[in-house]
Amino acid sequence: MDHFHFMNAGRIVAIVGRPNVGKSRLFNRLARKRLAIVHDQPGVTRDVNSTDLEDGYTLLDTGGIGLVAGANERAIYEAVEEQVFISVEAAQLILFVVDGQEGLVSLDEIVLERLRKSGKEIILVVNKLDNSSDDDKLVLFRKLGFKRTVGVSAEHGRGEDDLRELIAKILGPKPEEPVVTEPRRIKICFAGRPNVGKSSLCNALLKSDRLVVSEVPGTTRDSIELDFDYTAKSGEVWPFRLVDTAGLRRITRVRQPVEYFSMKRTEESIDAADVVFMVIDAQEGITKQEQAIAGKIAESGKLHAIIVNKWDIAQTAFDSGKIEHHATLAEYRAAFEDAIRRELFFLADSPIIFASALNGYSIERLLNESREVDARAEQHLSTGRVNALFEKLVQRREPRFIKGKRFRIYYATQTGRRPFRFKVFCNQSGHLDETYRRYLERGFVETFGLQGCPLRFELIGKKKKAGEK
Ligand code: GDP
Repeated sequence: MDHFHFMNAGRIVAIVGRPNVGKSRLFNRLARKRLAIVHDQPGVTRDVNSTDLEDGYTLLDTGGIGLVAGANERAIYEAVEEQVFISVEAAQLILFVVDGQEGLVSLDEIVLERLRKSGKEIILVVNKLDNSSDDDKLVLFRKLGFKRTVGVSAEHGRGEDDLRELIAKILGPKPEEPVVTEPRRIKICFAGRPNVGKSSLCNALLKSDRLVVSEVPGTTRDSIELDFDYTAKSGEVWPFRLVDTAGLRRITRVRQPVEYFSMKRTEESIDAADVVFMVIDAQEGITKQEQAIAGKIAESGKLHAIIVNKWDIAQTAFDSGKIEHHATLAEYRAAFEDAIRRELFFLADSPIIFASALNGYSIERLLNESREVDARAEQHLSTGRVNALFEKLVQRREPRFIKGKRFRIYYATQTGRRPFRFKVFCNQSGHLDETYRRYLERGFVETFGLQGCPLRFELIGKKKKAGEK
């Protein structure tokens, strides 16, 4: 079962504290897990224990970062420092756990100092107050001057409700997923250089008897748009909005700029769309202009699909024996597809649709594809699955910027959709090289089925201080 609610994203609470103060006990208590299973979510990295709570936030215990059995004092100190760094970077609220029986030790003081500097919301959780007679121990801790101090017994549940209430108060009300009342109009646009058939595709769409224009073309600010409902062969009605394409402008006879090719207009229509169709001419293939436009689409982070238009010409050529070296049209098509993926490598995971504006081939298919890509973008990728995948991918192949030290991803979290954004907390700061980024991207696309959905990975790792190895 997947308890992940995307709206949890950004609502992260991290448990911080030196070893043995009872962090994992507290984690299990808040997660309402009776058993002291620490790494209970399949695939969650050993470094960070995390779970998405019904209360509307994600709970992290970073206590596993950097610690190995039999670590000496210096190693423990470094590990704790790393844990604090990740927690501060990742979380909105920090539960700083101390041992109420032992009192403050110097390692606590170090953590305390770091946390204060971070400016984050902090609750001081004084643990191991198992009996009411322990409560006077709190007095000492209150002197530390934290705005919020709670005494608990993670083992027995004392103080649990108070802590829960306080967390809820600080995080504020749980955001609700917006209620969708009517199907959303997916905004589509055709991008491509002149003469690839953008306006012909618009025409083919508009003259289809399955299509009803629900609103006359209008201009809002800079963009020209047209709402239409398409009745699919299944009988389902699909609402769309066609935005700001050169083709549409020609059809609607809105005065067209004189310039032969305007990248700026293309960029504007890409910005206005949910799903961008990159139109390619089957006869011409990929030119520099295609590469420039595909680059813009990739940069924009918009959903995309590639249309190979004028496929009727290829079909005719094949039928009349003008295409050699391919036994079947399907084989020719596969070779064509490979070439596109190679040449437009930055859109390599895009769906590709072979179409013809001339005979209407694939018109429904391309509309359907935009709906599918759009639906993929709505997917919830659970924290557990995302972390499991990162772990697997990094294990299989490590990124290149690592020198000497093993690269570790402690924890990753989805922070956005359209494009899918991930914050990746790791033991090194740096940029992924292009090849490695592509490798991760492909892993995500294949595992989660994200064809046509761009991905963004943001690496967060501690910078080395001068003098450190
Ligand atoms: P745009 O500049 O991208 O809007 O391209 P147009 O729609 O004006 O098309 C350019 C030329 O290609 C025109 O002569 C069209 O008739 C032709 N064309 C467009 N789509 C097709 C197609 O699917 N098959 C064939 N054979 N010709 C097409």
